Amino acid sequence: MDDRVVKTAVVVGGGPVGCLAAISLARRGWKVDVYEARPDLRDAASIQNTKLRSINLAISHRGLAAIQVIDPLAAQRFLETVIPMKGRMIHDPNCTLSSQLYDKDGQCINSIDRALLNRSLLDQASSSPNIRLFFNHKIQLVDFDKKTMTVLNLDSGTVFSVEFDLCVGADGSYSVIRRQMMKVVRMDFQQEYIRDEYVEFKMPPGRGDRGQPVFLLDPDHLHIWPRHSFMFIALPNQDKSFTCTLFAPASLLDTLGDRATFLSWFRQHFRDAFELIGENSLATAWELNPRSPLICTKSNPYHYLDRAILLGDAAHSMVPFYGQGLNCGLEDVRVLDTLLTESEVQATAPANFDRGSIDTRLAAALAEYSESRHDDLVAICELAMANYLEMRHSVTTPVYLFRKGLDRL
Ligand code: FAD
Repeated sequence: MDDRVVKTAVVVGGGPVGCLAAISLARRGWKVDVYEARPDLRDAASIQNTKLRSINLAISHRGLAAIQVIDPLAAQRFLETVIPMKGRMIHDPNCTLSSQLYDKDGQCINSIDRALLNRSLLDQASSSPNIRLFFNHKIQLVDFDKKTMTVLNLDSGTVFSVEFDLCVGADGSYSVIRRQMMKVVRMDFQQEYIRDEYVEFKMPPGRGDRGQPVFLLDPDHLHIWPRHSFMFIALPNQDKSFTCTLFAPASLLDTLGDRATFLSWFRQHFRDAFELIGENSLATAWELNPRSPLICTKSNPYHYLDRAILLGDAAHSMVPFYGQGLNCGLEDVRVLDTLLTESEVQATAPANFDRGSIDTRLAAALAEYSESRHDDLVAICELAMANYLEMRHSVTTPVYLFRKGLDRL
């Protein structure tokens, strides 16, 4: 008779990193419960919501390789939905365009709808018999010694407690799990808001000869309007629209106040984009869409004994200018998966195991994760910060041509 029990991992956060972590652990034999504070992204109301604010991002080889290792079929499906971008298209103030290819051999980064990516990973997670997903459930407190956490059911208002053997904090930049871990781990933590904020806009599809939707800009490129101290960018979507983002100092955005001032400023700096997006759509987005801050966080270490690990933005949130935040989060899962294999960590324990004891193999694997991952994560956070100057300014200067490389925006 089998006298072993399956251990439980609780993943906090059902974003892309949490989903991939859940799939990885479930494939290793763990019983996995995912708690997500928001409603299910796949519900009709959520789909309608994300249609109103289509946010896309660039996935590079780093992120795709991570999905490929954990779930090759999911990786194949993503590749069918991405739009490859082979370079940057620079729009100068006179509306002259110049293409800067990322790679002489044609390697690309890929534009993907963030909600679509998240939904596919949720579907993949739902199809695993080892994974249970709980939406509208917010984690409030964690007792790492007792290995329990307090959950608030946002629908019913009830609070209950769940037990875990491993807690995976994939709950984003403002992570509750990180804050709870800081009470028991001597964790270094650094947080920085940069001076800039961002606002999103949408460039609609144009109409072709037969009325069919067509791209208004070349979809093979990531479009950048670099204006030295601020910039506008556009990434293509499957429906032939572009998601556009304005990055500018908060102090500048403060001065643009009303609709008329904003439109006049926008037309002055981004004339071609002004015409393609249209005055009404620009003004509505300016009035309705939030101005969001940009934050950079660094932590060290990322684990606590054999029972907690931080992944994705919960561990390291970087400014988006290198296009690597999510790519790195997905890579976190791949690196952890490899270390668990190498350390031969078991997903089961003897039926009479003492929950207070420490699984030394798992503790060693998590320690190795913190040790081996930290320098790379700090480096990429710093590269992301440096690439903002490159995107809004240096791409307009000839010296740039000697420094460019792939795997960045
Ligand atoms: P999140 O996506 O933030 O998910 C965390 C989840 O945890 C959320 O669903 C949240 O509801 C849930 N949660 C939070 N607290 C709790 C709690 N207490 N209990 C339960 N659930 C909780 N990255 C790229 O790789 N390429 C790009 O091109 C790119 N562009 C970007 C552009 C912008 C403007 C921004 C802001 C970011 C960009 N990024 C990009 C970064 C990328 O969006 C993030 O790195 C990625 O979303 C992080 O994924 P995650 O799963 O770690 O966290």
